[in-house]
Amino acid sequence: MGYYERKAGVTLLQWVLIVGVVGLVIAWPWILGTQLALSSGAEKNGATYDLAGWIPEGLWIVAVVYGVWRYVTRVRAAQAAALTAHAEHLQKVTAYRAMMAKTNDVWFDAEAGHYRHSTCTIKHRSEGPAGRCSSRI
Ligand SMILES: [Zn+2]
Repeated sequence: MGYYERKAGVTLLQWVLIVGVVGLVIAWPWILGTQLALSSGAEKNGATYDLAGWIPEGLWIVAVVYGVWRYVTRVRAAQAAALTAHAEHLQKVTAYRAMMAKTNDVWFDAEAGHYRHSTCTIKHRSEGPAGRCSSRI
């Protein structure tokens, strides 16, 4: 099978590897704990063996759940802060436009991307035509 004949998707071997890696990521504290218990003379499947496996495994699961919860909480807080900041920014832009509409000054509206003056709705591309505009107050 040449390079160009390779099919997209996950092969059986890749599935076996994925399941193996995920299993190790979840179960490594249990494996480590039970191996340590066996090497220090505990009986396989005895009470000491079970505790040596499940205590670190339980701590690991709690730590992973806490880590995920903290990450999600932080991301949500950052999103809420960004929304608030955006709303405040839009409020300032609206207020600034309202203030400038009462003057005769030509100014660049960075939000809209063109020059403005008074209440004119023409999208002036440069300052000169905006200054000479017939609809200037
Ligand atoms: Zn104008």
